[in-house]
Amino acid sequence: MADKKLNGTVIVTYRCNARCTMCNRYKAPSRPEEEISIETIKKFPKMYFTNITGGEPFIREDLADIVRELYKKSDRIVISTNGFFTDRIIKLCEEFPNVGIRISIEGLEETNNKIRGLQDGYNKGYSTLKKLVEMKHPDVGFGMTVQDTNARDLVALYEKSNELNMEFATASLHNSFYFVEAKNIIKDRMMVAKEFEKLVNELLKSNSPKKWFRAYFNHGLINYIFGQKRLLPCDMSFDTFFIDPYGDVMPCNGTKDKEVMGNLNEQTWDELWNSEQAEAIRKKVRCCDRNCWMIGSVSPAMHKYIWKPAIWVIKHKFLRFWKKEKYSMYENKIVRDFREGKVTKEELDKCSTCDMNAKVNDGLSKESIKQLKSKFEKKIIEKDIDEQ
Ligand code: SF4
Repeated sequence: MADKKLNGTVIVTYRCNARCTMCNRYKAPSRPEEEISIETIKKFPKMYFTNITGGEPFIREDLADIVRELYKKSDRIVISTNGFFTDRIIKLCEEFPNVGIRISIEGLEETNNKIRGLQDGYNKGYSTLKKLVEMKHPDVGFGMTVQDTNARDLVALYEKSNELNMEFATASLHNSFYFVEAKNIIKDRMMVAKEFEKLVNELLKSNSPKKWFRAYFNHGLINYIFGQKRLLPCDMSFDTFFIDPYGDVMPCNGTKDKEVMGNLNEQTWDELWNSEQAEAIRKKVRCCDRNCWMIGSVSPAMHKYIWKPAIWVIKHKFLRFWKKEKYSMYENKIVRDFREGKVTKEELDKCSTCDMNAKVNDGLSKESIKQLKSKFEKKIIEKDIDEQ
């Protein structure tokens, strides 16, 4: 176990300058003094991939120190950001030419700004992307959380990513303590699925095997928004972990409440990873019925159970090439059942993780909760934005 390289996600802060409609994390920020330190990062295991996320990671002014330390542990690092802090992003990429950058753009200009709640957010994000392209930064991409309000921009954004020769990552709405949200739900499933269907066909049309596998991922998103069982098992906490700003190691970011395997501020990695508490969480993961379909849990599963997406890809490339048949969302039985009235919208809603009456746990420390009452954090974030 000790020598096996893992897949890790580091939530370096819960502070965020955006105001996204599908994520309330900005209302529940961490305190800067409590956020994960370099000393704790030094205790990390060897990793083949690390995602740095937030909140908005570039709010942390010591992000370069974190990346420097993580490169001693990890073969590859990708940072997820809203792209707002352009100068900081460019500076970091100059120092680390191999670091991956994924900027969330939630649609074309008007839609993006409405969803993100960031004034001029689209132009900021897009100009950061363009600057990265101009400096020939090799690993840059968009990320989009597809929902009712932006689904119709999906293919247009994919085309934009192609123009700029960039990666294009998709997600859909999820509920969890991490998003401080329990009410996210797709309302018009057929419309959203139709847009995913178009994207799957665009991806299958390309000459890039990576894009064919992305097509499978998006096919899985149709299955997810109809509340069905995951297409692949979820092995989070076995060779993949998340760590939050307080040093708490968790299986993933999809659980309703925060699930803790141990704390890396207080334990060594081996103590934590091999503890009874960690084993108890692994048992919970084995019975987890949330059926998330986010890249953090799906990408390791696609590598581990590669034959399943590979068979799907071969079948669809074959159908496309020899029979001129396109992918159809109706190959998902549940979509056919819904069209034929065998299952109702209300029944599908019940299969989702949306719970209008849930009390959301935000996973904050007691100290972070205390400071929220004084609104001190809001001032810190506003000051940070002003400085930009
Ligand atoms: S399905 Fe997997 S990623 Fe989602 S909450 Fe359960 S364990 Fe976490």
